[in-house]
Amino acid sequence: MSAVLKTVGLSKHFGGHAAVSDVDLVVNRGDIHCLIGPNGAGKSTFFKLVVGTHEASSGTIEFLDTDVTRKRPYERVKQGMSIKMQTPSVFKELPVRQNIHIALQHHVRGADLANEEERLLELLDLAADATKPAGALAHGQQQWLEIGMAVALKPVLLLMDEPTAGLSPEETFKTGELIQRLNAEGMTVLVVEHDMAFIRQIAQRVTVLHFGKVFAEGSMAEVIADPGVAEIYLGKTHDH
Ligand code: ADP
Ligand code: MG
Repeated sequence: MSAVLKTVGLSKHFGGHAAVSDVDLVVNRGDIHCLIGPNGAGKSTFFKLVVGTHEASSGTIEFLDTDVTRKRPYERVKQGMSIKMQTPSVFKELPVRQNIHIALQHHVRGADLANEEERLLELLDLAADATKPAGALAHGQQQWLEIGMAVALKPVLLLMDEPTAGLSPEETFKTGELIQRLNAEGMTVLVVEHDMAFIRQIAQRVTVLHFGKVFAEGSMAEVIADPGVAEIYLGKTHDH
């Protein structure tokens, strides 16, 4: 098994507060890896360290055996990371197809571009809505379009922070199926989430963060069976 992403002793301090503290985490090639934990556990901060929008206070981040700790976000993207943003970045006034076209055009040309456009629209279940302005899509469909634009780059690692935020249970399940299809095509996925049904649906490996530290790690079954995890996370309800 080869590591796509590896953090060693990764930490981020805000003033005196350690939001992420000494995190060693490995994402193996081909996995759907979920990062879970209670609110304030440091999930989004860890995510931002990996994509490069936060600078690490200490520790290292290796991506495909290259140290990217001090690399700019766009350099990480060029090396094969792709990020599905939480805030919509689709062009709402443009048709769905045009959005996909724009995401593809930098690296695919001619007939390949048309084929890939079609393939993605089918994959995202957006073919029937291809001519609609993206802004006219339902919230869930906009999220799938976002995912489609992120995967148009053919990334090695797809990163998502709470891709199911604001989605209905049906839309959440469909998002899980989409992620599984992308993974079946060979994409490695790191997902930050707190929707347990969704995590059960997709996770192949789970890391639990608590107070910025790795609290538990393993398969979904192992993590669920850990009484400590149940106590800090699974047994408790928390606001979204
Ligand atoms: P999660 O995504 O797991 O809910 P976060 O990573 O957003 O957790 O936050 C972890 C901790 O770091 C929280 O205590 C939060 O208040 C703090 N934090 C996050 N971002 C900042 C920031 N930009 N400045 C100061 N504190 C922050
Ligand atoms: Mg968060």
